Amino acid sequence: MNFGSNSALELAELRAEQERDAAISAAMQAVETRGSPVCVDCEGTIPAERRQAAPFATRCIDCQMFHEQEKLHR
Ligand SMILES: [Zn+2]
Repeated sequence: MNFGSNSALELAELRAEQERDAAISAAMQAVETRGSPVCVDCEGTIPAERRQAAPFATRCIDCQMFHEQEKLHR
């Protein structure tokens, strides 16, 4: 059987590309709705441990504590 391995390969590559694009946009949506991998205040990386504990976090622990203390003092 020979039904053109080239086009089958191209199709597979196209599918992989579509899947990758879908995965990227899903990841970007996840960031918007579930917090950020990077702190919005200091732009430092939020540790995976903290992101697991607090998926909605958009700040690292230091900035979050500072933010909460600032709120308390007002
Ligand atoms: Zn921070």
